[in-house]
Amino acid sequence: MEYKETIYKTPVKHGLVNYEKTYKNFNWDDINRCFDHFSDDGVNIAHEAIDRHAENGCKDKIAMYWEDEDNVEKRFSFSDIKRQSSKLANVLRNLGVEKGDRVFLFLPRTHELYVSIIAIAKLGAIAGPMFSAFGPEAVKDRLHDSEATVLITTPELSQRIDEIKEELPALKHTILVNAEKNLDEDEHSYESETNKASESFKIRWVDPEDDLFVLYTSGTTGKPKGVTHVHNDMISHYITTKWALDLRDDDVYWCTADPGWVTGTVYGIWGPWLNKVSQVVYNGRYDADKWYSIIEKYKVTVWYTAPTALRMLMKAGNEIIKKYDLSSLRYICSVGEPLNPEVIKWGLQVYNLPIHDNWWQTETGSIMIANFPSLPIKPGSMGKPFPGISAKIINSKGKVLAPGKHGLLGLKSGWPSMLRKVWANEEKYNEYFKISGWYTTGDTAYMDNDGYFWFVGRADDVINTAGHRVGPFEVESALVEHKAIAEAGVIGIPDTERSEIIKAFIVLNRGYKPSPTLKKEIQGFIKKRLAAHAYPREIEFTKDVPKTRSGKIMRRLLKARELGLPTGDLSTLEE
Ligand code: ATP
Ligand code: MG
Repeated sequence: MEYKETIYKTPVKHGLVNYEKTYKNFNWDDINRCFDHFSDDGVNIAHEAIDRHAENGCKDKIAMYWEDEDNVEKRFSFSDIKRQSSKLANVLRNLGVEKGDRVFLFLPRTHELYVSIIAIAKLGAIAGPMFSAFGPEAVKDRLHDSEATVLITTPELSQRIDEIKEELPALKHTILVNAEKNLDEDEHSYESETNKASESFKIRWVDPEDDLFVLYTSGTTGKPKGVTHVHNDMISHYITTKWALDLRDDDVYWCTADPGWVTGTVYGIWGPWLNKVSQVVYNGRYDADKWYSIIEKYKVTVWYTAPTALRMLMKAGNEIIKKYDLSSLRYICSVGEPLNPEVIKWGLQVYNLPIHDNWWQTETGSIMIANFPSLPIKPGSMGKPFPGISAKIINSKGKVLAPGKHGLLGLKSGWPSMLRKVWANEEKYNEYFKISGWYTTGDTAYMDNDGYFWFVGRADDVINTAGHRVGPFEVESALVEHKAIAEAGVIGIPDTERSEIIKAFIVLNRGYKPSPTLKKEIQGFIKKRLAAHAYPREIEFTKDVPKTRSGKIMRRLLKARELGLPTGDLSTLEE
């Protein structure tokens, strides 16, 4: 089944008109020429994303529509962000922050978080965004590993880390947003310090290869790893936002991700602002009514979210959608997990738009494979490689496999936003390159005859049952097509006869009750829908499946719990 371009309500002029031609002629240097490159002394992404727009005729254009759960609303123009980030950059400099120093953020999605990330970049320092739901251990691991010298947080969140401060000798200052308490010697009030600070700040020009941010990913085992990116990433951020998310000057864009996850940093800060686009930031939890009301109120045109959110919206039902005017939407994208075909089908029905899945990782720093606006979507496929990206299916020796063959997803190194290091861990970094000539992604996939890529699973998740290799995603996707099922997490469990058997953890839709009959019915449904070998021999009904804060099903945790094994690092588990 292929959904063609013609399903759009109105003809849309896309940023990337001819995929094939662009892919063939693409050159990263051409993209680099889109920037201002204001100074001979170097570059700075903050100049390109904020200051240059504020100085070049867009000072009053809204950079951020901000709203929180209590319906407090604020608007910030590009010149507001420029001014506020310059003030904070002065504050940080007075505290001794220099180029290359790590400044960590432990904040909800307040507007100060966004301003801070720009301010840190202006100094040439390195930002470390963290989810505000982290517990003390998760924060400690990250601050300790990065030897961060400054932490920006709130009084409530800072209480959580009081007990660990002693174990962080490098941490010299804490800046508190909305502090109403008496401050300790190492604490500073965000508001009073920025109020006093000058709004003029000379941006620190840096080498494109200088570090910009470090994001710790959960790590399947052991401690989280600090994936480090540089200012040169802006080349990838800029063009992937334009072509894969299809952003234009007149869009109102909403990325639902928290900057604690790479999607929220790259496509919730840098990408849209490098493209001079007005974006919405909602500081709050998922709530179907609230989310739709945001689209309606701000007339959101482009929406970037995740499969888990879309599945929740699907579960919330179609009636609720009728209460809102969502006609401003023109383009929807999804990332983070495989996008189930069922969700795309539903999106077409209720939003009258297809949902464009794309694939990338913290390490790749930008979208690598996407369903582009000008190409037909094959539901369930991640799409085609971004121009400038060479993606192939390879075996463990680096040999390129033929279309249709399952293998490792490998990328040829050399795009601008590729990770430059894993903080203080060269060994971990080198692991990505252990197949000679390739960056290995740790995911398995296959490519079809039309050059579309299909996700199979994380290499560690793929199930080997009676000689068949089964990706958990295809089983999960088939399961959610069943009318009773809202969500499913699938793993392999050891079996003497079949090596592994498939076990499914299933969350039911409202109105359905667990029963042996329903189990049988679901098994029969999968046998018919997928294959006799791919049906879950074991089914467990559950209230929810464990997920990361970025919304990914944590299959490794389902498996560890099932088998009574150590659960590994759980700092990114959504509780
Ligand atoms: P860690 O590497 O520490 O275990 P993580 O891989 O969950 O953490 P991210 O970098 O946010 O952290 O996630 C990237 C991974 O998410 C990909 O390697 C892939 O497994 C999955 N993913 C992202 N987008 C898609 C997609 N469109 N389809 C399928 N899987 C996706
Ligand atoms: Mg990963």
